[in-house]
This record gives sequence, structure tokens and C-alpha cells, in this order.
Amino acid sequence: MLNLDMFRPVRGMKDLYGADLAKYNYIIQKAIKVSTKYGYKQINTPVVEYTEVFQRSIGSETDVVSKEMYTFIDKGGESITLRPEGTAGVIRAIVSENLTQKLPLKLMYYGEMFRYDRPQKGRYRQFRQLGFEHIGDKGPYVDALTIAMASEILNSIGSFDFKILVNTLGDEETRENYTKAIVKFFSRHENELSEESKARLKKNPLRILDSKDSGDKEICSMAPMITDYLSKESGKYFEEVCRLLNNFGLNYEIDSFLVRGLDYYSHVAFELKSTANNYKDSLGGGGRYDKLLNMFGGPDVSGVGFAFGIERLILTLENANFFGEPKKTAVIPVSDEENDDALNLLKLLHNCDINAEFICSGNLNKKMKIANKLDCELALIIGENERKDGTIMVKFMNSSADNPKSKSVNYNQIVQFVKNNLHS
Ligand code: AMP
Repeated sequence: MLNLDMFRPVRGMKDLYGADLAKYNYIIQKAIKVSTKYGYKQINTPVVEYTEVFQRSIGSETDVVSKEMYTFIDKGGESITLRPEGTAGVIRAIVSENLTQKLPLKLMYYGEMFRYDRPQKGRYRQFRQLGFEHIGDKGPYVDALTIAMASEILNSIGSFDFKILVNTLGDEETRENYTKAIVKFFSRHENELSEESKARLKKNPLRILDSKDSGDKEICSMAPMITDYLSKESGKYFEEVCRLLNNFGLNYEIDSFLVRGLDYYSHVAFELKSTANNYKDSLGGGGRYDKLLNMFGGPDVSGVGFAFGIERLILTLENANFFGEPKKTAVIPVSDEENDDALNLLKLLHNCDINAEFICSGNLNKKMKIANKLDCELALIIGENERKDGTIMVKFMNSSADNPKSKSVNYNQIVQFVKNNLHS
């Protein structure tokens, strides 16, 4: 028996076309425009890497690596993984392509990421990220500028409300002291922790703070805060970042439990969340990483980066009713005799930035049906009479009692007429 499920996209993955693809491209173009202003250039790395690339950098105790990776043994017996995020591959590329000579670098990428998670609204197994990495410069001004750029990208793609959550994961000294404090705290609550968090307590206690278990979350809300364990230097660094964010007039909040789900962050970590419609999942996030380049055999330099989930941005814009279907008009010759005049009219409309489709198959009735299917708001009809009179017959496709069904318009007034009557 033929299994028809085989011909559907794999669970958690989607075909992307039509209006959705246009939204995807729109967001990328806006992000390229803003990040180019800040000096970012594009990089494109493979969608698969050796598994080790992610294990070493993201951390083997993180949910992403321990539960969500698409890992395969290829025909050569190598363990390879579909990338779950973009930073590790970009840093690997900087080292293996010898781009370290060119540091500092500002790189942006976009493309498919894969995580084997439970699919739900805004969470897919194949999704797209738009990411930015600034490598080889360290200082509060770099972190603050990166957060400012993330915010500017969101502002450039549409108008919706969002907030920026920031925290610091401090330096190594901070994390050592903080880890001791939370081990002490969680050990007192060990019996109440989920099985998974009990295991984390032994292997990577910081990851307990990422737990999605509701019981764990309750305990976490009473845990010590990292901001109370900052080394002097880390404290000063974070204060300076916050001062600069204030100077930029950014709407941010300090969230002392924000640790992000990946192991490589140090100092500043941040997340951007939509505040509209109580959409809780984050739109994007990132932070500073001190050890990543070194981990891949590169120099001991630091970087800062972040990524947006493109599907999440699309959902947010849709919630804000940002994407209306582009309005368009149909240009219809009654018979082949009028084709040339109709094409001239089409060119005139296109030159004036009006969306217009040329419809020339079948009789007039069929052409009108096609115009309807294409969701054209107006049909501009040219027949023998119109050619003689220098007019166009305009039909309103969604006529109602208040709207006349059609109107004859002078050819030299048609552009203005269409602009006035095509709702954008
Ligand atoms: P992360 O790499 O985990 O820091 O995620 C960065 C951003 O990618 C998140 O804020 C989301 O917008 C997006 N993202 C992460 N996982 C998924 C997923 N499974 N489906 C859709 N978007 C995701």
C-alpha cells in the first residue's frame, strides 16, 4: 500500500511559498539593510557540521545538544549534525577559513536550523534564523551597540511592541562562585527537582535555570541571583552596558534569571520578546562569548552575537495585522484586437508602481473569473468602444450597494483613478 504520509512535509517542517515566502524575504531584506549600516557582511556556512562542532560549543548538557539535534552517521562513518543554530558554524568557519587574519569581523547569516522539539505554534523542527556575530572586539559599547542594532532591526520590519531582557553571566570567577551558590541551593531542594534537573545538578547546574518543568520553575524563582555574585570587573562591565542602553533610550529590563539555553555565553546575555498578544516565546536573543574561537583552535578573542527566529517575527507581524495582501488590478482586453492597447496600459501602470496583471486567456467572462481568482480589486477593460473613445471601463470586483459596479474613466486620468481606488 502506498503510504501517502510519505508525500507530506516531515512533521514540524513546512513548505514555504507565495505570501509566506514574500514575508520571509521582506524580513531578510530589512535586516540586511540595517546591519549593512553597522558594517556587517554576509556569510553562508553549510547546514551540516561534524557533530563535535555543536557538542563542544553549545555544551553536551544543554537541551539543544542532549535532546534536539538531528545527528546521523553518514556513509563515510562520520557523525554529522544538521545545524541547530548558526553561531558555532560561523566561528568554525572563521578559524578553518583563516579569517582570523581579518578580525575584527562583523558577519550576518540567515537560513535553516533544525531542532527535534515538540512542534507547536512558533516552534518547528525546521525553522529559519537570522543571525549576527561581531567577533574580535570586546567592550560594553560593542555589546550595547549590538543590542541597539537588534532593536533597530525589529523597528525597521514593522511596528509592534517588544521588550529587551538583559542579564550578565559574568566572567569565569563569577560563574564559579554562582555555580557554588546554586548547587548549595538546589541541593536543599533536590527531592523536589525533576529527574532531569537532578542529573543537571551533578553535570551542569546552571542548566537547571532553563528547565521547562513547572515544579523546577517554581524552585528556580527562589534561587540566588547571579547579579549578587558578580566579580568586581563583571559588575562594572554590566553597569556600563546598562548605562549605554539608557543613553540609547532602549526599553530594557534586567532579568537576573536569563541564562539562555546554550553554554557558551559569558558577560551580557539578552532576549527580545514581543509584548503584543501575550506572545511569550522569544523573538530572538544572544550574548557575549569569550571562549568559542579558542575552542575551535582560534585566538583567544571574544565575540558577541544574536539570532532572530524568522517564523516568530512573521507570527508577530501577522498578529499586528502588518501583512495585508498587496492590492492589485487586472488589465483585460475584450478581444485580441485590444491586446496591444491593454499591454500599453499595463506598462503605464507598472511604471507608476501599481500592481497589475495582464489577463488574456478565454472570453471576457472567463477573463473576469480569472481576475476574481487572482484577488484583483479592479478590472480595467478595453474593448472596441473604449479604444475609439480613449476611455477605460473600470469594474469594481467587490461591488456593494454603496459602490458603483463600473465606471468609464478617461485614459489620461486612469492612473490617478486607480491610485485613488486601489486600497493599500
Ligand atoms: P536560540 O538559538 O535558542 O538562542 O534561539 C534564537 C531564536 O531562534 C529564538 O528566539 C526563536 O526566535 C528562534 N527559535 C529557536 N528555536 C526555534 C524553533 N524550534 N522553532 C522556531 N523558532 C525557533
